[in-house]
Amino acid sequence: MKNLKLVAARPDSSRSVIDVLGVKFGKDFVVIAGPCSVETEKQTIETAIAVKKAGAHMLRGGAFKPRTSPYAFQGLGLKGLKLLDKAKKETGLPIVTEVVDTRDVSWVGEYADVLQIGARNMQNFSLLREAGKSGKPILLKRGMYSTLEEWLNCAEYILAEGNPNVILCERGIRTFETYTRNTLDLSMVPAVLKESHLPILVDPSHGTGILSMIEPMSLAAMIAGANGLEIEVHIDPPSALSDKDQQLNVAQFEKLMKKLEKTRIFYANLMTGDGSDEASVANEADAGQAASESLRESSPFIDAVD
Ligand code: PEP
Ligand code: MN
Repeated sequence: MKNLKLVAARPDSSRSVIDVLGVKFGKDFVVIAGPCSVETEKQTIETAIAVKKAGAHMLRGGAFKPRTSPYAFQGLGLKGLKLLDKAKKETGLPIVTEVVDTRDVSWVGEYADVLQIGARNMQNFSLLREAGKSGKPILLKRGMYSTLEEWLNCAEYILAEGNPNVILCERGIRTFETYTRNTLDLSMVPAVLKESHLPILVDPSHGTGILSMIEPMSLAAMIAGANGLEIEVHIDPPSALSDKDQQLNVAQFEKLMKKLEKTRIFYANLMTGDGSDEASVANEADAGQAASESLRESSPFIDAVD
């Protein structure tokens, strides 16, 4: 790909590891979970405690919401950021939250551990430059009409400002298909792993918009080699002020986390075993542990969900 000086895959195939308060993107399989929007103190804190208990590594939640309609809930702004901060203090989970305006980057960055740039702003070049100058880790979501090359060039804008801490996130694109909210393009996972050294996450919530598809797409993303997931979880999805149809409740998220752990063991065995049934061992956990350790060297994007 042309003009990718900083984000292109390295000749030695080494990959970036971005450490956010001990959460290692590009090394461990990172699960970011939390509500679409920060709504109330109870909703934010209870969701944070629940996702932490289920094994999530970071808390997401929008305080500034880019909505299709100007009359829809736009987020709580500063009040929302303060609630996220409270949830962080309560649970220790680092915070991922979206910034939508160049003027807000520095002060939102005081609350966020990772600043999210959403699909609708992927090619907002002033925002990208400002995000680059901030030096904060940036979660850059794929624009819904963007090619891989356009997306990686947007990451290049951030790195060109001297900020190497960019995490990519596939969140689905617009196609002729209307059954799903977006068409989740999982082929971007191996594509990014081939073309760039940056970590790649998958957002199956916006990627499908359909509750029953979040679990299979999450497991598929892990098998495809993704470095993690961003998933919407709400303590009471029917009451949510945005994206109520696609947010998992706590029980659904707990179930998903258990299946992700089983999938990780399965994948580690698949990648290291000889493929024969005799390779199956009595103690699955030990086998998975051994496999994931040997896998770490060849495949840094698979690690423990713990
Ligand atoms: C979000 O993650 O809150 C969001 C709005 O996602 P996207 O930018 O991918 O639509
Ligand atoms: Mn949402």
